[in-house]
Amino acid sequence: KKEEERRAFKAELVLLASHEIRSPLNGVIWSLEDLIKNGNLEKDQQGFKTLQLIKESCDYLLVTVNSLLNLSLLDNKIAKKSWKNVELVSIINDLVKKFKLNTLEKDITLDLDSSLLKVVYVFGDEDKLKRMFANLISNAIKHSKEKSTIQVGYKIEGEYCIFWVKDTGIGIPVSEKNKIFSGFYRANNAREKTESGTGLGLYYVAEVVKLHKGEISFDSKENIGTTFFVKLKKVINN
Ligand code: ADP
Repeated sequence: KKEEERRAFKAELVLLASHEIRSPLNGVIWSLEDLIKNGNLEKDQQGFKTLQLIKESCDYLLVTVNSLLNLSLLDNKIAKKSWKNVELVSIINDLVKKFKLNTLEKDITLDLDSSLLKVVYVFGDEDKLKRMFANLISNAIKHSKEKSTIQVGYKIEGEYCIFWVKDTGIGIPVSEKNKIFSGFYRANNAREKTESGTGLGLYYVAEVVKLHKGEISFDSKENIGTTFFVKLKKVINN
């Protein structure tokens, strides 16, 4: 009980802090955008470049703050009131369609490889489940090479449904495998190849899975690819 209270208090604190940081940060970003667009900086190329660098850092900070905000919302007690039967196949279908736009640049093929069942209901929080799958798909895109294929799929095993996101990207080095779910951690090979990232995405994914009493695992070989599996309990009779 005490541990639960402490956790809730900590979450509340992070929620408040990230919220308080976000508003002024947005103000800074808007002002910078205005200055970059309308600031008559033609004669001051160095100043223009510096402003752009400041804006890039602020954008990155905003991504981090938003991730923290999402994480703290996980522990929000009221959140469970919004739990309902969520249909995951249509959510994943929509995400695959949406992410297809992001794959154009690298010419990646993103497919939903579905099994027999066309609907899978899980009791849970729709927004968090959606964000969880979005994180896994965007990671797969981020860590894939050009012209590769990403497969999203699912199968039923008894009263559970197992979802996967399979890529043929950079993979996760053996020595880093037990660290990638801890917050703020990014593997060496990922840091070398992609500049952006907070290391909070997978932590969020794992927390959402835990919240829904599911299981997360992965299979990965460096330079061959990675498959993430999420096992969730289905709502019976659907
Ligand atoms: P971020 O993407 O912001 O770096 P994540 O928490 O989503 O952070 O992921 C943590 C780390 O796990 C990544 O930096 C990367 O090293 C590794 N990782 C996650 N997904 C994949 C993937 N599909 N392929 C290879 N490495 C991955």
